[in-house]
Amino acid sequence: MRPEELLIPTPAGLYCPPADVHVDPMRPVPRALITHGHADHARPGHGAVMATPETLAIMAARYGEDFCRERQPAAYGETISINGVAVSFHPAGHVLGSAQILFETRGFRAVVSGDYKRQSDPTAAPFEVVPCDLFVTEATFGLPVFRHPDAAEEVAKLIDSVALFPDRAHLVGAYSLGKAQRLIALLRQAGWDAPVHLHGAMVRVTEVYRALGIALGDTPQVAAPKRKDMAGAIVLCPPSALRELWARKFPDPVTVAASGWMRVRARARQKGVELPLVVSDHADWDDLRRTILDTGASEVWVTHGEEDALVHWCGTAGLKARPLRLVGYGDEGEAEPEAAADAPA
Ligand SMILES: [Zn+2]
Ligand SMILES: [Zn+2]
Repeated sequence: MRPEELLIPTPAGLYCPPADVHVDPMRPVPRALITHGHADHARPGHGAVMATPETLAIMAARYGEDFCRERQPAAYGETISINGVAVSFHPAGHVLGSAQILFETRGFRAVVSGDYKRQSDPTAAPFEVVPCDLFVTEATFGLPVFRHPDAAEEVAKLIDSVALFPDRAHLVGAYSLGKAQRLIALLRQAGWDAPVHLHGAMVRVTEVYRALGIALGDTPQVAAPKRKDMAGAIVLCPPSALRELWARKFPDPVTVAASGWMRVRARARQKGVELPLVVSDHADWDDLRRTILDTGASEVWVTHGEEDALVHWCGTAGLKARPLRLVGYGDEGEAEPEAAADAPA
């Protein structure tokens, strides 16, 4: 069958005509399947929402309990038939609850991967390769310059810096959903057992992670009057907060940012980031290509990001590929520092 019989790009997002569902729709639709909780994928106002229980919990915490009319939890690996299309959710390794969605009908398999990474993450189930005929991928870091190092080594640089500057607070700009909790878990793995302080914007999502069983240790919210006494502390905040008055109340703060974009040192300098950490929740150039090959797909659709570069590479690998140029994605969890307003969490 032609892939377009199973999935088509529409202004509202990817649509599966036989199942009559949209994936990560940009505007309210009757039936939505949601890959994960980042704001550019998970929006409020749909009729029925099918997602993993974790993603549903994250959406409820961010948007309120009435974020949709009806919730339909889908556990990883469970197959649900929708109008004769077999639909199942599989771990994407991106943030807690993130999923790739497999559509299968008449022997044809299409996977919409949402956002994903192959690096290990103590807060997310590891990415699972789902063999398919059509693989739909993003390409945020789809250029050879983007190679993400081992995240544990990047976090070790943060701990080293605290040892070197014990009188300074370390303010780490990181996104509220996913990146912040991954950093906390990596700090714990590296032996940091002191509190990891949180900006108020990160507290609610972090509590959802904890309620879903992710161990994060002591993560107190920073109280305003205490900011001047935070020598030697590690404080996580939204990237935008680094440039606000809030940040200047700390003792001689070291400005840290954790993002895949920090690979471009000029960009880090431009943003006034003293300690750039290359920690990304997206696949880098090598992992994008490896994943496409691992799925065995003969056709690849690229939703957003560096579409042209990845589509070109697919051609050189003998794969049919097309850019979808979907407008409205650009990951909340990894948006460029200056562009990102933090989530309403
Ligand atoms: Zn995302
Ligand atoms: Zn995204």
